[in-house]
Amino acid sequence: MNDLSAIVTAIAGEMREVGSRGTVADYIPPLAAVPLDKFGMAVVMADGEVHVAGDADEAFSIQSISKVFALTLALGAVGDQLWERVGREPSGSAFNSIVQLETEHGIPRNPFINAGAIVVTDVLLGRLQPREAIGQMLRFVRELAGDESIAIDETVAAAERETGFRNRALANYMRAFGTVRGDVELVLGTYFHFCALAMSCRQLALAGRYLMDGGRSDGHRIISEKRARRINALMMSCGHYDNSGDFAYRIGLPGKSGVGGGILAVAPGIASVAVWSPGLNESGNSRLGQMALERLVQRTGWSVFEPRAI
Ligand code: GLU
Repeated sequence: MNDLSAIVTAIAGEMREVGSRGTVADYIPPLAAVPLDKFGMAVVMADGEVHVAGDADEAFSIQSISKVFALTLALGAVGDQLWERVGREPSGSAFNSIVQLETEHGIPRNPFINAGAIVVTDVLLGRLQPREAIGQMLRFVRELAGDESIAIDETVAAAERETGFRNRALANYMRAFGTVRGDVELVLGTYFHFCALAMSCRQLALAGRYLMDGGRSDGHRIISEKRARRINALMMSCGHYDNSGDFAYRIGLPGKSGVGGGILAVAPGIASVAVWSPGLNESGNSRLGQMALERLVQRTGWSVFEPRAI
């Protein structure tokens, strides 16, 4: 057992002992049913070595982590034109907030809050039917992870459709400004299916390799180096809603969280890391997931702000 697998195993052990685990997202009923004691972690190194611990092979709802993959696909489809309809600044407000949209003319602050991801989905639907866009997303994450078994949890997608009143409000509001251009229900249905992707920590960390390795995954070019760098920058500044500054302060890695309790974090050139624990903090980010990543960077020195020899 090398050092890193000892570190990952130790962190998973420590997480089992933590008493205050946050609260599960209860506004999407199937997510409320996930046991709070779950914890998984997977670290995929640049050389392909994989270290896992805890429930690393159990699939969970990746929720907003899908916003990273949707952004990647939309940039591939329309390039920088995307930025005419969505910004690149941290929002400082909740993931599902509507307040900024009125003063900012229906243009969401960034692609990683719900409003932004709904616009990104609308952009994808400018060229594809919903079924094609969902198929493209599924093929993309399967290819990235090298795992054909990845699927969408239809129960979660249906529950989101039933309870997605806020997302419906956001989408309709942006439709009035023309930032969303397609049929609101079709855009939301597609967005909910992206959020309902079910993946394990191992699959997610494998899927994140292209962001760790300058746009390449397992030796294959997925996106340009420049685009990978830019997506990482957005994950660092906007990946954790109104908790993004604190995540950068404590962990110092580009990361994206989801209300299913997962976090994908990237140490460029070093490792792609996924953690999962369903209990969330007040901002909707996994409480233990953040704690585990903080311990990982403390023990490995992987923060991008760590001085490195050149
Ligand atoms: N599907 C969730 C929603 O739209 C995603 C939120 C999240 O993971 O932050 O409310």
